[in-house]
Amino acid sequence: MLIALNLKMENGDTNHLSVVRKIPEIIDILVSSAFPELRDSKIHFRLGRVSSFAQIQWDRTRDEISINVNQEVKKWHEAALIGLISHELSHPVQKGRRLSERETDKESISRGLGPYLATERLFAGKYEDHRIQHGRDKYLGYRSIRAELTQIETQQLDLLTKEIGLVPTKSESRKLMNHDIAVYREGDNTTLLIGGQRFSISQRMNNPDVKLLERNGIVYVYANEVLVGEYKRDIGTDT
Ligand SMILES: [Zn+2]
Repeated sequence: MLIALNLKMENGDTNHLSVVRKIPEIIDILVSSAFPELRDSKIHFRLGRVSSFAQIQWDRTRDEISINVNQEVKKWHEAALIGLISHELSHPVQKGRRLSERETDKESISRGLGPYLATERLFAGKYEDHRIQHGRDKYLGYRSIRAELTQIETQQLDLLTKEIGLVPTKSESRKLMNHDIAVYREGDNTTLLIGGQRFSISQRMNNPDVKLLERNGIVYVYANEVLVGEYKRDIGTDT
């Protein structure tokens, strides 16, 4: 069932301040309506430079959660912002801290946020599933998410895309931006999940500045300017 959001839906606003105000409001509404286990968490939000659309950090207690969002999303419609934040909040609430993007998407859908998630995927250029980790994991694309929705949610999604003026179609093959980065801290260890790849660092990092540099198909991962690993870039969407 779709949760009732009292936000006035607006098209992307390039005004920095309005997005800075809007996202915390979205976080509050999502927590109170769909993520009851995060009610006691202090959620910090920052808009800035991130090597993906968003980055989330949490630890086992979930007392403090940080969400960094890329400036790029200022162009997005509010419904897409809700979808992005719903994916991020679905990371820390999973049982057994599974670090899978597909499971994270499913978590978000199970909480009634599928229509927003599907809308977000259109803005993120993922009409089809985005395979990561050489196919062992994936971000669900618009088409797969839509197929998982209830009848009411499907209607809701269609209304949303109509209202935004989006025609859901397969986007031309273009380089897909890394979707999000999950940072999980446990004791003196920090684990980064980037594009399905896991990097463990034996150091406690606080909201590290993650940079991804690509050279010849290899992505080099830096956390606070220190090289922590590398991975082969995935080809992208299923076709
Ligand atoms: Zn994620």
